[in-house]
Amino acid sequence: MQRPVLAANWKMNSGPTAAKRFMDSFLPAYGTHNDRTVIIFAPSVSLTTVAQATSGRKDVIAGIQNIYWAEKGAFTGEISAPMARDAGAQVALVGHSERRHIFGETDAQCAKKCAAAARFGLTFMLCVGETIEQREAGETERLVKRQLREGLSQIDNLLSVDFAIAYEPVWAIGTGLTASAADASAIHTMIRSELRDMIGTRGDEIPILYGGSVNPANAAALLRAPEIDGLLVGGASVEANSWVSIAQT
Ligand code: PEP
Repeated sequence: MQRPVLAANWKMNSGPTAAKRFMDSFLPAYGTHNDRTVIIFAPSVSLTTVAQATSGRKDVIAGIQNIYWAEKGAFTGEISAPMARDAGAQVALVGHSERRHIFGETDAQCAKKCAAAARFGLTFMLCVGETIEQREAGETERLVKRQLREGLSQIDNLLSVDFAIAYEPVWAIGTGLTASAADASAIHTMIRSELRDMIGTRGDEIPILYGGSVNPANAAALLRAPEIDGLLVGGASVEANSWVSIAQT
């Protein structure tokens, strides 16, 4: 992944018809930018549509919003890393706060998902971030470190695995509240230092994205802040014009 990394999380929006319409509008308006990577985390049913539209491009790639850790078998409704790859995903989002807080995903499950992605050749993006209660209780740093270390704990060869981290304070997701560039930057700096502790100078190469109510108006200031290597964007990524503007920031 070429930094900055601009990642769109469509959440449960845009089936194949809407995804095709979006790509037909987004790609020509965005053009080609080889100085950054754009990822579209599409719903699974729209993955092939996005992957086909971006086929052959390195600067715009498709991602899946969630995977299961087993390779195949009796896991109704789940999608494995090899299946996601087959559908054209190059990246898997792991541990998004909606997965953690609505579907009860634990750090242990995130760890298995990260390990599965690595084992089956998918880059992964591990999401970490505190709730408002945890923030007010002064627990942000301890929690983010735990989510980071536990999420990466099942990977043997972390040094040679491609991954990214997304810091997304839960209180900022979909709420219109954004962490200040300085606040986000402070947490990113802490994450960078943890990564260095785990994998030495390789830790400097891992993109750390910020997410939480990013929009065309605040994207540039966030991207300029130290240690913010990209943006993970939900609501403002579903509409093509808004996403063109953020992706070109
Ligand atoms: C997200 O879904 O990862 C996200 C950050 O959402 P939003 O941009 O809508 O806050």
